This record gives sequence, structure tokens and C-alpha cells, in this order.
Amino acid sequence: MPASAETYAIPPSVDAFLAGDHNLLIGDRWTPATSGETLDIVNPATGKVIAKAAMAGVEDVDAAVRAARHAFDHGPWSKMMPAQRRALILALADEIEAHIEELAMIDTLNMGMPVPDARYFSVMLSIESLRYNAGWCGKISGETVTVGVPDHHAYTIKEPIGVVGAIVPWNTPLMAGVIKIAPALAAGCTVILKPAEITPLTAVRLGQMIEKVGFPPGVVNILAGHGGIAGQALVEHPGVDKISFTGSTAVGQHLVRTAAGTMKRISLELGGKSPVFIFPDADLELAIPMTAMLIFKNSGQICAAGSRLFAHHTIFDKVVAGIEDFARRFKVGSPLEMGVEMGPLVSEKQMNRVTGYIDKGRADGAEVACGGGRVGSEGFFVEPTVMVNARPDISLVREEIFGPVLVAAPVTSNDLDQVAAIGNDSDYGLSAYVWTNNMSVGHQMARKLKTGSVRINGGVNLDANLPFGGAKMSGWGREYGRDGVEAFFESKTVSVALTAGLGQSDASAIDLK
Ligand code: NAD
Repeated sequence: MPASAETYAIPPSVDAFLAGDHNLLIGDRWTPATSGETLDIVNPATGKVIAKAAMAGVEDVDAAVRAARHAFDHGPWSKMMPAQRRALILALADEIEAHIEELAMIDTLNMGMPVPDARYFSVMLSIESLRYNAGWCGKISGETVTVGVPDHHAYTIKEPIGVVGAIVPWNTPLMAGVIKIAPALAAGCTVILKPAEITPLTAVRLGQMIEKVGFPPGVVNILAGHGGIAGQALVEHPGVDKISFTGSTAVGQHLVRTAAGTMKRISLELGGKSPVFIFPDADLELAIPMTAMLIFKNSGQICAAGSRLFAHHTIFDKVVAGIEDFARRFKVGSPLEMGVEMGPLVSEKQMNRVTGYIDKGRADGAEVACGGGRVGSEGFFVEPTVMVNARPDISLVREEIFGPVLVAAPVTSNDLDQVAAIGNDSDYGLSAYVWTNNMSVGHQMARKLKTGSVRINGGVNLDANLPFGGAKMSGWGREYGRDGVEAFFESKTVSVALTAGLGQSDASAIDLK
């Protein structure tokens, strides 16, 4: 609730939470790191420390894996009926729903997203993910398979993979973890969640809620920790059956190499450099603000942000002028202030990374159409920025910036293969956006684009039932939807000879002629 006409008040429960301990949840105990290490957690809007969090080391990861293994191999979780698991997952959703304002405020203070965005992107999508996935409990099953040998009964069983290490980034802290925990639990797996080291706070609060609603010990363990230490230990650990990772492509590649040591399953939601195409017949009243929101929302720290704009040359100037106008009016400021649309970047490091890309783009010959610099000297704010006249081979165009920076280029061709090829000229393949009123063009583009998803006349559509993931270097596998929950199962084949007689290995004895 507002403290005044201008700002959202920090609920007393949040102050109390921030002042408390932020330890590791391992089995049924909350514990500091064995090494005693903590990290100062910083509010990116002010640069001030708001809390301290325990940072797990290798021993802590090992203890958490043992707790998760026990809950899976011997504990109640794998022996529970699907309906019991479903009830617990739904209870967790209800508990989160009862604390929307508190959780949104913690993510706002820790990550910098404006309060309404934290409510929706981080908290509401978490609730929806839990309720959606709860519905899958007990509904994924194998099939009966007809085989070529007579008198055989063959079938497949879907079994939960086992212990899952969920490693997530900082850009929507609560939601990033919950969208992995929810399908993993629905499948019957146990989980060790490692939030990003700089945004561990809502994960700690989530752990308290998981305990409160009565999940058995060890089913969900929560360990904040540095990627190179706690994350690495999780990936190397032979007791972990699967790593579900969201983060940068560079770290994803490293995890693939590391996971090869144990051949554990791995799914990867990685970076993007997603193209937005605006065709001359598009509804510009809609396409312009939506394109601007797609790159400026959450300060551009959205994996599926549309960061490369390709507008037909006949409308290019109008589109860019419209986005510039939007950018100048987009309200940047404290994420606690009502009406603010864009907060800071998550950290000083991220701010320097983003301004570094802008400066390098300038040095490489690109021009700043609007924005282009830091805002103020307190906190880590960067202006909504549009850049033009960039050569297609420079880092500004090719690399993921993960900030509010749009690179715009006119398209002269009317040939859809050529237009799609411009968008496909990227190592990434996460999302693409197409604005046109000609649905034939829209659907043709959807087929030609090498991306995990294509949105026609709309923005990011994160729906719990709609698979999401990347092609090319944007990842392996899909989250959300049935695909998302199936990713936590392993398939086992069973074949029974119903009568004594020919088995598969005797098939050569069958006269096939
Ligand atoms: P990051 O790769 O630096 O870190 C992600 C997570 O991996 C963190 O928890 C980090 O501690 C951990 N980590 C780092 N090194 C590790 C190691 N050696 N072993 C194990 N874990 C390690 O990414 P980031 O900067 O936190 O997040 C931004 C990136 O995430 C962007 O590239 C963005 O596109 C991507 N992202 C992708 C999606 C998607 O769904 N495709 C969603 C959100 C963010």
C-alpha cells in the first residue's frame, strides 16, 4: 500500500525479514555456510547494503545433495501419492498469494524492478506456474507399445529423474526459481535451488514458505552461493541427476562440459538477441510502444527482449522516431516510486557492462539516436537507448547486452527469405517478433525464423501452458507447458514375454518372407 501519493511503502514484515538471517535451507535446518561466508546484498537503486546472505561452499552443497537424495531415494516424497504432492504444491501457491506485496517488495529492493512489475513478472507468474504444474501431478505416463515379436507385452514407464540442481539468474529472482521447482516437484523430483548470488532474498523467503506449508525435509533445499563455487559443485556432484540451468550462454557452455563428467541430464535456458520485424502494413500505433516496452521493460534484463529492430525502410524513420519519443517519456527512477516504469540495472557490474557496449558501439561507428548514458550518480540507472547506423558485424549488434539498448536498422528487401535471413544472422535463437496485418506473411516468417518462439503482433507471452526455450546457442530443451514437466522424467522400457518362446534376440529365427 502506498505510504504517500508517490511511493510504495515497505511493509514492516519486509524490514523484519531484511534484518534477519538469510541462511541456507538444507534438509530441515537453516544453517550458515560451513565456511561462515556471507555476501552483502545491495539495493541497486541506492547502491546500499540491505542484507547479508550466507554463501554456500562445496561442503554445504554436498549436505544439500545428501538431503535431496534421501528425500528422493528413501524419503516420503517419492512414496507420496500424486494427489498429496499436488496438495502441497497448491498450498505453496496459496502461501505465496497471501504474501504478494511482501515478496514483490523484496524482489524490488534486491533486483530493482518497479513494484508493479515485480508483482506481475516475479510473483504472479510464480503462483501461476505452481498451480499449472500441480495439475500435472500423476498425469504424465508412459504408453503400451506394440512390438514385432508375438506374445509380448511392452510398455514404457515415466519415472522422475531424481535430484535436480536448479541454477538461476537474477533478472526475475522469485519466478526464475519457482518455474523450475514447480514442474520438478510435480514430476516427483527433489530439488536444490541455487539462486544468483546477488539476488538470493526471495529464494530464502520461499524456503520459509516451503517449510511452513509442510513439504517433507530435503524435498527443496535452497543454497545461495557463488556460481563458480556452489553452482560448479552442484554440476560436478555425482548425486545430482539433472541440472536445470537458466543463465548466460557462456556459463551454459561451461556447464555442458562439466556435466559430461557424470553424464547428468542438463537443460539450458540461455541468452538471446531477439529480432523484431515491423512490416509496412503493421499497426504502428501498437507496434511502436510494444517494441519499446519489449526492450525497456525490466531495464532490458529479459532474456526474450527484442533487442534488434528491423523495420521496413518506408516506415523506418517513423518507427524510430516513435520509439525515441516513447523512450524519452518512459519514466526512469526509483522502483519504489509510483508511476516509474524502469528502475536501475541489477548491479554496478551490469551497468558498466551495458554502458560499455554503448561506448564500444559508438567507437565502432554506430550512432546514438536517444539515451546512451548513465542516469544520475546514485544507483545503477541507464537511459533507455536507441542506436542506429550500426554495422551488422559489431558487438553491439551481435552480442547480448541484457540492458535497455535497442539497435535499429532499415530493411529494404520485400523478399521474406532475405528478411528472415537478416534476423537469423545471429548465434542466438531465443525469440522473434513479427508485426504485420498480413497473416500469410506472419506465418511464413514464423516458419523461416530459427528461434524457439515467434510472436506475431504481440510481446513476450509467458504463459504457463506455452513452451518456451531457445534454438541455436539460446539453449537446450523447453520450459513451461507439458514439455516443461516432461523434462523432469526419464523413460524406462519394459518388455515381457507372455509365453515361453521367441524373444527379440531370436527374431532372426522368424521367417519374414
Ligand atoms: P550467469 O550465466 O552469469 O549466471 C546464471 C547462474 O549461473 C547464476 O546463479 C550463477 O551464480 C550461476 N553460475 C555462474 N557460473 C557458474 C558455474 N561455473 N557453475 C555453475 N553455475 C554457475 O547469468 P546472469 O548474468 O545471472 O543472467 C543473465 C543471463 O541469463 C542472460 O544471458 C539472459 O539471457 C539469461 N536468461 C535466460 C533466460 C531464458 O529463459 N532463456 C531467462 C532469464 C535469463
